[in-house]
Amino acid sequence: MAKKIKTLRFDTDWQYDPAPESASAAKINAQYDLFIDGRWQKPQSGKYFETINPANEKTLSRVAGSNEKDVDRAVRSARQAYEKVWKKMAPAERGKYIFRIARMMQEKARELAVIETLEGGKPIRESRDFDVPTAAQHFFYYAGWADKLDYAFPNKKVAPLGVAAQIIPWNFPLLMAAWKIAPALATGNTVVLKPAETTSLTALKLAEIIQEADLPHGVVNIITGAGKTGVAMVNHPDVNKIAFTGSTEVGKIIQHSIAGTNKRSTLELGGKAANIVFEDAAIDQAVEGVVNGVYFNQGHVCCAGSRLYLQESIAKEFIQKLKDRVATLIVGDPMDKNTDIGAINSKNQLDTILKYIQIGKKEGSAIYQPACSLPKKGFWCPPTLFTDVAQSNRIVQEEIFGPVLAILTFRTDNEVIEKANNTPYGLSAGVWTDKGSRIFNMTRRLRAGVVWANTFNKFDAASPFGGYKESGFGREGGLHGLTPYLEII
Ligand code: NAD
Ligand code: MN
Repeated sequence: MAKKIKTLRFDTDWQYDPAPESASAAKINAQYDLFIDGRWQKPQSGKYFETINPANEKTLSRVAGSNEKDVDRAVRSARQAYEKVWKKMAPAERGKYIFRIARMMQEKARELAVIETLEGGKPIRESRDFDVPTAAQHFFYYAGWADKLDYAFPNKKVAPLGVAAQIIPWNFPLLMAAWKIAPALATGNTVVLKPAETTSLTALKLAEIIQEADLPHGVVNIITGAGKTGVAMVNHPDVNKIAFTGSTEVGKIIQHSIAGTNKRSTLELGGKAANIVFEDAAIDQAVEGVVNGVYFNQGHVCCAGSRLYLQESIAKEFIQKLKDRVATLIVGDPMDKNTDIGAINSKNQLDTILKYIQIGKKEGSAIYQPACSLPKKGFWCPPTLFTDVAQSNRIVQEEIFGPVLAILTFRTDNEVIEKANNTPYGLSAGVWTDKGSRIFNMTRRLRAGVVWANTFNKFDAASPFGGYKESGFGREGGLHGLTPYLEII
């Protein structure tokens, strides 16, 4: 048995000195128009809406709302650029533009990270060390493919599809924009992209970069707005391909809308990943992996390890170590370099998370939340874990999209595979064990697009990502990520 160690409490025993990043590293305009046909255009809707900092509820900027006319203008601009310029351009030339965007993102990395954190609520450490570099990596990676498509698909002929409508969520705003735009451009398509309504600013900064990079006008159009704008994009008759990341609910609506049309689609939807820890695993590393898996980015991660399955023999010890570790997590100002858990992205999302925490309690599970003093303004949720949980409980079956972990136990490999696969989702999973053969057995039988072994939430531009079942279909990233943007004959 592990010796019980006294846990130092961040809020009572000791504290780090604040180490804030400076908001002045970012230039944010008071108001943004739409980026269509290479220039900033006033919305025909005439409407603008506010975007706020979820850590203090202060207004950051106002962005344009797009109606059907605005969407139509953006799609026409993308069509024109496709027919007249982009599809005719030599692939190596297209690659040069994409490389240029990647380099410019690196040059502006600090500003992009600061804006991502101010508007999204995620810790600056994450936007600085993960979101922005990984977004740039995607552009570098796909720039490299632009003139090598014949090698990617030997003995086949490939052609672009045309205009791609791309709709992205608020949890990784810049990274999702990169996941969508980079492969579309490398394969010769043009783009209309819409960020989520609570996180428009880094996409608009990317529009500035694209303008500075002198990309031919209309190849990338970035328009802002909420769900209705997305509906108009999906239903526009001159769109060839829809790339969507977001909720399963909206994914289903999109599938209904495009049934019977020639529009291609990839949908990257929700998840409810199982993190499975066997008794032979390196326990302390697994504790870190579980913490990273579900509390990273406030749990606003479709592949978050929100279900933890512990082999019975280690459950008690593991849960104690996990609680001790969770008690040291620092919740607070996302701009502080010490912060582990930042602000919940919106009031709406916070309400959803709090609703699920109530459901967990009502279902009879035992809740653990470390004591931490949360700021008065803004949207916050302490790291939360539930024990005494049953497989059929809603907090096990449904996506919460917050820093909430449900802990269950198991005895055998077969039992845990059955339980892990028993949700409507199938995006990702994690396996912690010292046994190589067990890793192979598990990865083969887990119905999840990504299975991490002795690690979690690792991403690389060269690695495909995507789901099974209600987590959607199609793959983004890697060689696989080229396919959904091409006609392959
Ligand atoms: P959402 O699916 O409503 O929004 C995602 C994007 O789709 C946004 O840009 C939004 O404006 C747009 N959109 C909304 N309705 C649309 C429609 N009918 N047609 C076309 N586009 C539309 O997600 P949300 O409401 O912001 O979040 C709700 C839940 O979605 C979360 O709690 C979480 O479970 C899930 N989610 C998943 C991911 C992911 O990465 N898979 C990301 C964000 C949210
Ligand atoms: Mn929604």
